Amino acid sequence: MKFDLHTHHYRCGHARGEMEDYIQAALARGLDVIGISDHSPYFGREENHPYPTLTMAKSEFAEYVNEVRRLKEKYRDKIEVLLGVESDYFEKSAQTYKNVYDHYPMDYIIGSVHFVHGVNIFDKNRWNGLSEKEILDTKEEYYRLIEKSAKSGMFQVLGHIDAIKGYFPSISDVKTNKVDHALHVIADQEVAIEVNTSGKMKDCGGWYPSADLLERAKYYNIPITLGSDSHDPERIGEDLDLVRKHLKSIGYQEWYFFRNKKPVAVSL
Ligand SMILES: [Zn+2]
Ligand SMILES: [Zn+2]
Repeated sequence: MKFDLHTHHYRCGHARGEMEDYIQAALARGLDVIGISDHSPYFGREENHPYPTLTMAKSEFAEYVNEVRRLKEKYRDKIEVLLGVESDYFEKSAQTYKNVYDHYPMDYIIGSVHFVHGVNIFDKNRWNGLSEKEILDTKEEYYRLIEKSAKSGMFQVLGHIDAIKGYFPSISDVKTNKVDHALHVIADQEVAIEVNTSGKMKDCGGWYPSADLLERAKYYNIPITLGSDSHDPERIGEDLDLVRKHLKSIGYQEWYFFRNKKPVAVSL
């Protein structure tokens, strides 16, 4: 049984192809389940569409949901299409986001921290000229936010939990007990983390989270799901078998996808 829960499409302004192209790619690769999880609009902002190259407009979200539901129906006999979203986690406007999602029949919500101290984690310039202390502070704030996102109860999945290394790989070597603290908290919530195979699209290479973090996640028995974070249909299901083998090798026996916000266990 094969699935991929983390996919984007043209609506976010930086991905290629229609939603249906991703479903077709999933079918071609023999997936049984495909989750649609485009970036959430900036629900906490006054403007309808403040960043057209990062996410869809607030006013587009209802049509986004409708399109997933139409395709769910259309492909019912061929592949299971799930309604997801990759939601930003902003501490101050989390409740606003939750109120919106509560209106829709979401199968799952991926909670991702993309902003730390108000700056995008993938903004390469954010690392220029930082002192060691500032780098440590940034990493600790990132894990504080991840921990808080886990405790929010809004999410079934936490997205790419070491993506802060994307354009600053050496931050993985910065020691802080905040990482294990976050893992401990995540393990106490009903939330999974994803193995996100898109690290290779950034300077860090490989997957999120990196191998040592994944082994520590196993130590805490944190449930796992899979996401390619495809911004191009060609990446759907990428590395699925490699991830599966790796998870088995570190002791995992099953992983999960989510239907109607309930975990569905799939044997590895
Ligand atoms: Zn993301
Ligand atoms: Zn994503």
